[in-house]
Amino acid sequence: MFNSKTLLFHVKQEFPLFHVKQAFFTLFAGVWLASVGIIFAQTPAELLQSPPIRAALEAAQRNEPAALEEQVRMCEIPAPPFKEEVRGQELKRLFEGLGLKDVRIDKAGNVIGVRPGRAAHPNLVFSAHLDTVFPEGTDVKVKREGGVLKGPGIGDDCRGLTVMLSVIRALNEAHVETPGTITFVADVGEEGLGDLRGMKSLFYESLKGQIDKFISVDGTGLGIVHIGVGSNRYRVTFKGPGGHSFGAFGMANPIQAMGRAIAKIDAFEVPTQPKTTFNVGRVGGGTSVNAIPFEAWMEVDMRSSDPASLKAVDTKFNAAVKEAVEEENRRWNNRGPVTVAAELVGVRPAGQTAKDSPIVQTALGVSRALKIEEVLREGSTDSNVPMNLGIPAITISGGGNGTGAHSLNEAFDPKDSWRGTQRAILLAVALAR
Ligand SMILES: [Zn+2]
Repeated sequence: MFNSKTLLFHVKQEFPLFHVKQAFFTLFAGVWLASVGIIFAQTPAELLQSPPIRAALEAAQRNEPAALEEQVRMCEIPAPPFKEEVRGQELKRLFEGLGLKDVRIDKAGNVIGVRPGRAAHPNLVFSAHLDTVFPEGTDVKVKREGGVLKGPGIGDDCRGLTVMLSVIRALNEAHVETPGTITFVADVGEEGLGDLRGMKSLFYESLKGQIDKFISVDGTGLGIVHIGVGSNRYRVTFKGPGGHSFGAFGMANPIQAMGRAIAKIDAFEVPTQPKTTFNVGRVGGGTSVNAIPFEAWMEVDMRSSDPASLKAVDTKFNAAVKEAVEEENRRWNNRGPVTVAAELVGVRPAGQTAKDSPIVQTALGVSRALKIEEVLREGSTDSNVPMNLGIPAITISGGGNGTGAHSLNEAFDPKDSWRGTQRAILLAVALAR
């Protein structure tokens, strides 16, 4: 007969010998593991229960006021496109001060530092970009209004750089050791015509074949970007002989040809789903109000997360430019005439990390564990390059509230910004395994 009483009896008999030994082993192992900060738990919610990780998250919250001062300091070091060296040197100094290994600056200008785990792989790259959209000479002094910080670049991406430094600091303070390695990168060329050159250099050269997973922290809020919007960017130059506005009147005009082109572009109809966009962002040309110009130029950006829609708007754009020049020359009986060259100056590859992929699911799990609302978005960020290569990649925002990114009125409201730092820490730990 086998009934519950006998079962109970057997369990009681066996418990003391076997289970007590195991309990002691578990206790000793646990104390040892906790002392060196190794964490075996798997899910973000389980990781959150681990004492060293809790300590790291507490450190992040405690250190946030100092981190915000660092954010201001970082923002006040100019980092115009293609001129990120000074800010890069500061990051190098900070990486070294925080004990990262093998700190170096690669050929493109990316600052790289390694926080070794117990194994070299998985190797998680954790990045934030150094560059801003603001040209040399822009006043980058940060002003404070109430608690709000105002300055060009304060959120995009001085917030990301700050979160990256806070993650390293918190992991160090709490002695968190990760099974895999985290390679921290402050990268160049994320914005504008930088054309993701930092990421292209990192993935195609400096760390080619060595990156298993990728996160970048970019901007403010608590979103997660898992769709990489691709873009094509052109610089279009219109040329003609030029001449006196009165004496040479009757000649085709490069600026007027460009005006025709812009009017055609402005009339494009594009899909809203997937969101597809176009923008004439800069124009220039001419020498004087009383001269027919010999040159005019414009810079145009087109974007979509869908490669086919991007190609369609690109084709329309090229046709519009050609037609505009033909019309202008016809209008002036081919006197001039105006010629045009459209140079492709930027290609940001499109790609995506599937919603059900482990990295996106981990990021959502981390957000849930920290009671952060799940917001999945598309964007054009450093992650485009790994996404396009099929390497698991996402871009997360760094917390706080930002307004006016890419404008001189950019502002950062640091209310509860530590939550962004905590999310980045838990995510880094969850992925470095
Ligand atoms: Zn950015």
